[in-house]
Amino acid sequence: MTETLNMPDRQGSQERPKILIVDDEKVNLDILIDLLKPHYKTVAAKNGEQAMKRLEKAPLPDLILLDVMMPGLDGYEVCRQIKEIPAIRDIPIIFITAKATAADETKGFDTGAVDYIAKPFSPKVVLARVKTHIELKRRGDMLEQMAILDGLTGIPNRRRFDQVLQEEWERSRRFGRPFAVILMDIDHFKLYNDHYGHGQGDTCLRQVAQAINQAMPRCVDLAARYGGEEFSCILPETHHEGAIAVGGRILQSVRDLKAPHGKSKTSPFVSVSIGISSTIPTREMTPQELLEAADKALYQAKENGRNQMVCLD
Ligand code: GH3
Ligand code: MG
Ligand code: MG
Repeated sequence: MTETLNMPDRQGSQERPKILIVDDEKVNLDILIDLLKPHYKTVAAKNGEQAMKRLEKAPLPDLILLDVMMPGLDGYEVCRQIKEIPAIRDIPIIFITAKATAADETKGFDTGAVDYIAKPFSPKVVLARVKTHIELKRRGDMLEQMAILDGLTGIPNRRRFDQVLQEEWERSRRFGRPFAVILMDIDHFKLYNDHYGHGQGDTCLRQVAQAINQAMPRCVDLAARYGGEEFSCILPETHHEGAIAVGGRILQSVRDLKAPHGKSKTSPFVSVSIGISSTIPTREMTPQELLEAADKALYQAKENGRNQMVCLD
């Protein structure tokens, strides 16, 4: 370790990582805040209950420094509870405590902590360990994003689509709620590539992905790149009429791009054909059947002359 740690840029344009510090003794809190504040965003909690409250809504911290001995919920219990909540279970936790026998440390790791710092602590050691775990967290987040996003368009990929489709289908089935999917395919895209080149084709795919996203402002809806020049949407809590409304907005949003397509036999501009299918899921049905119906509808939209949508129940 060199004398000066290479800490996150103070004026960096990137959001500074956020750390939640939990300790029931004000002196400890103050020391840790003074130490970390020049490099990170810090948030303090003076007991376990307050810590859990701080974790209820965004923005969530990138790391938690957690005291073990506190009245009420102790550190181990806070850690155990955090590990049971999917939205926050991956936030790394470092125990920082005077309770530092081998048995204590083992218990901390067993509960799910990533590290253990003994009090009284050396400021440099705290900074170094925090930095390490923040970096690991950032890398993990990045890998996670890469696994679910399409590299070209930046919207969710097929893998993510399949995952959300299954989850949302189950949820809709359990609660007897309506559910719709949309499949879209760019019209005459082979001719587009042949005429404008593959690079321009890629740019067009990005533009269409953006246009689709803009037509879907509801945060529970998901638009994904289904493959090649095909896109797909999941619309939970959406009836037939609602899905048609979304389909219509997507159709218009892509038309509004007014991206020239000199070789299209359908329109002077890039257009999409859309297949929609909606249902109220039951045990006897699978989401794949709903997708097949949307695919059939899409095929019909192509047959009917493209640049339009067809909806099947
Ligand atoms: P249709 O109107 O019937 O859908 O005709 P189409 O030409 O769009 O359909 P077809 O399936 O024949 O061609 C799809 C084209 O999409 C062919 C392929 O080169 C292109 N494509 C698929 N993925 C990509 C990509 O990532 N980048 C680019 N530039 N082109 C792609
Ligand atoms: Mg296609
Ligand atoms: Mg096509």
